[in-house]
Amino acid sequence: MLAAVRSAVLEGVDGRIVTVEVHVSRGLPGYTVVGLPDAAGRESRERVRAALLSSGLEYPQQRVTVNLAPASVRKTGAGLELGVALALTCAAGGLPAGALEGVAVLGELGLDGGVRPVAGTLALVDALVRVGVEHVVVPFANAAEAALVPGAIVRVARTLGELHACLKGEAPWPDPPDPPPMTAGAPEGDEPLDLADVRGLTNARLALSVAAAGAHHLLMVGPPGVGKTMLARRLPTILTPLERSEALEVTKIHSAAGAHRGPALRTDPPFRQPHHSASMVSLVGGGSSRVRPGEVSLAHRGALFLDELPEFPVHALESLRQPLEERVVRVSRASGTIEFPADFLLLACANPCPCGREETKCKCGDVQRARYARRLSAPLLDRFDLRIRIMAAGTEPGESSAVVAARVAVAVARQRVRLRGTGWRRNAHVPAGALERYTALTDDARAAWIEVCGQRQLTGRGAARVRRVARTMADLSDRTDIETGDIETAAWMREDMW
Ligand SMILES: [Zn+2]
Repeated sequence: MLAAVRSAVLEGVDGRIVTVEVHVSRGLPGYTVVGLPDAAGRESRERVRAALLSSGLEYPQQRVTVNLAPASVRKTGAGLELGVALALTCAAGGLPAGALEGVAVLGELGLDGGVRPVAGTLALVDALVRVGVEHVVVPFANAAEAALVPGAIVRVARTLGELHACLKGEAPWPDPPDPPPMTAGAPEGDEPLDLADVRGLTNARLALSVAAAGAHHLLMVGPPGVGKTMLARRLPTILTPLERSEALEVTKIHSAAGAHRGPALRTDPPFRQPHHSASMVSLVGGGSSRVRPGEVSLAHRGALFLDELPEFPVHALESLRQPLEERVVRVSRASGTIEFPADFLLLACANPCPCGREETKCKCGDVQRARYARRLSAPLLDRFDLRIRIMAAGTEPGESSAVVAARVAVAVARQRVRLRGTGWRRNAHVPAGALERYTALTDDARAAWIEVCGQRQLTGRGAARVRRVARTMADLSDRTDIETGDIETAAWMREDMW
């Protein structure tokens, strides 16, 4: 007897449909899995057998062949096990033929017959609904996430035995759990952070709000203890909540990475802060068995904060250049290339020299300083629209996060309207060829722009970056026209470092 059921596996952050076929035939008892399973898939026999027996279901003393199709898709993880157990039961006559039609199942199995959660439910259910699957059976713990997919009819499975009874029509489907409450804008960490905690740093505070509004990459250079890290960690308090489509993208990535916690739909922009000891793979993604998204993808639609930027390995820093330019990461595999979204705001801090002391106490020689500065290549430094030098901490109180966040939200709303349908989300994304249309200049502003670019001897790319930042300055003031003051501010916020 042959039986089949549909399921799905993760490839990158996307779901791929897999058909689980089980053939039960006479002959010596045995268990074979074909169709590119990983080690977990090859070793599924014991878990499937134990789960069936624990659930009071029969394990056939016959030859069992499991085929995972298509063979070209690499199957990682144990999320197909529930499908294997059901198809096996059906093939052995324990479920009526047709009981698995129009149904897809996701779930790992415990030895006791419990159904365990899988990573990437949102992406997996999305893929299944797209090919017309009517009912998707998911583990209880993944139900709220699965229900986010438009058009999905979600069934909940707590145990294999219970699911078996429901499929046979002997028991009603259990109710899905209540969706968890939506929360937004909560920064990670324990104590509530606020920009009002930071004193002084007027220029850096302005640059931070410009970065948050226009998605301009920001580098802050200053001596240790001046408060730049403290300021940077408060960026999440002024970021604008995600739109629903963005929230779905972000949740999908975090779910695929197994890093999704809290409410089903993540509406606060991610804020990631990897340590400088992070490997290149953990930064940009990859991996040998299962390809995982890196920090740049976990920061998608949010921010990546790299403190002490020159302390990161040079090859790791250089690997950021491609995602910074293209807003996607490509990971090459033997089976092809996997693309991960990586549209993030890069926020970085650096000390002016390797000793990290104040300028007056610094004992670094010119050679040491030069070697330190060389760690940040000119092309990488060029990616920062905003480069701010912080001299000393101040004492004057600054605005609270709520006040700045309101201004940022106005600027974001203006950009959403202006850039709708273009594929660019923020001013920082507008390509050079579209600047005349999306960062239009009055005659006065154009004269100022040409003058400042000449004085600073800016390259074409540098001049374009000044113009994008100036547009964000105007958006923060809720103005349609870019003024000469916006151009001047944008120019001094792009200092030459080292
Ligand atoms: Zn020094």
